[in-house]
Amino acid sequence: MKVEFDAQEATTLLDASIAGSLPDERGRFGPFGGRYVPETLVPAFERLEAGIAEHLHSDDFQAAYRSELRGWVGRPTALTHAPRLSERWGAEVWLKREDLAHTGAHKINNAIGQALLAKRIGAKQIIAETGAGQHGVASAAACARVGLPCRVYMGAVDVERQAPNVDRMHRLGAEVVPVESGDKTLRAAIDEALREWVTDPADTYYLIGSAVGAHPYPYLVRELQSVIGQEARAQMLELAGGLPDAAFACVGGGSNAIGLFYPLLGDREIELIGVEAGGTGNGLGQNAATLATGTPGVLQGSYSIILQDEDGNVQETHSISAGLDYSGVGPEHALLQAVDRVTYVAAGDDEALAALEELCELEGILTALETAHAYAFAKEWAQKNPGKRILIGNSGRGDKDMPTLTKFPPRTNANASA
Ligand SMILES: *Cc1c(COP(=O)(O)O)cnc(C)c1O
Repeated sequence: MKVEFDAQEATTLLDASIAGSLPDERGRFGPFGGRYVPETLVPAFERLEAGIAEHLHSDDFQAAYRSELRGWVGRPTALTHAPRLSERWGAEVWLKREDLAHTGAHKINNAIGQALLAKRIGAKQIIAETGAGQHGVASAAACARVGLPCRVYMGAVDVERQAPNVDRMHRLGAEVVPVESGDKTLRAAIDEALREWVTDPADTYYLIGSAVGAHPYPYLVRELQSVIGQEARAQMLELAGGLPDAAFACVGGGSNAIGLFYPLLGDREIELIGVEAGGTGNGLGQNAATLATGTPGVLQGSYSIILQDEDGNVQETHSISAGLDYSGVGPEHALLQAVDRVTYVAAGDDEALAALEELCELEGILTALETAHAYAFAKEWAQKNPGKRILIGNSGRGDKDMPTLTKFPPRTNANASA
């Protein structure tokens, strides 16, 4: 359900967003965002906010961050023209290759930035939570890089399901704590990480994995992930000879999407489209299409759009991709939807699988199942709007998805010789 503003209010908020003056001093993106946390956590959030104000945009911090992005993460990541996909879709398709970043996805941009910040503000250890394990791996790698101990909270069910990532985290020196409470998955892991943070807020830094949670996290993560859109914008001008007509990104919590979209908000002629997980259908529990089907509410410290029933109980979600399987979404996306700057749609499990297969076959890129949702909708859009120039945020690589993909043998093999 889309929140509606009157036209004047929407214009004012979008202008403020483009001008970079959101979130406001209360951490709000219009009505969304803010900080809804227990009293015991307020000092920890205030310390983080002060640390960000002091360091994030200082020359010294930025030099260190840019140097890690270049030398360790491998940035700038490539902008790849996709000629065979372009021909099939009747469009000019360009891919921003976050799959080429260290550890295989955009998550590392955020993890190394926050790890550097944690060091600056004097933290002695880092805690993080993870669902599928991708953010846990990025955090473990970043902590090893800056020399801070890392503890990752992970639901006991996920520890079972994601054994290879648990092993990766261990090898990267992190401690993995299986969480036996609640739903034993991501939400329980987040609750446990917050409980741990309360006991030692001075020495512990909580490294969040997406543009979600209480202020200042959605802001901090956006600032760190905006490198994606800054690079892509410059690369489009240089390599494609102009900006795209439309840009697409998949949306779980919304970090890769806000990273790509934020630097493009002011280019109002570019259509921006976020693609959520449509799962197996439209019913509650069958998908993770938060913005497409959810309602306003508070989840994990932030007022945004969430998947809840009529009594406000947060719903379980379903998606073939673990990284999109989340019942909330970052508050800045809720605003961008309400002011009509970004359109949010959903692509289902089957469409994502078909898109993944097509990209493999035509361009030799095994993309992540999360990312495949963006391709699925981009294709539909391209076929309705022929001849357009399209930019797709290729958020990560699909090697991690092989255990899932193995259950779905390729349906076609157009490259095989007859
Ligand atoms: C985690 C993940 C996502 C979803 O997270 P966002 O915060 O919405 O970006 C998308 N793609 C990949 C490859 C991921 O690992």
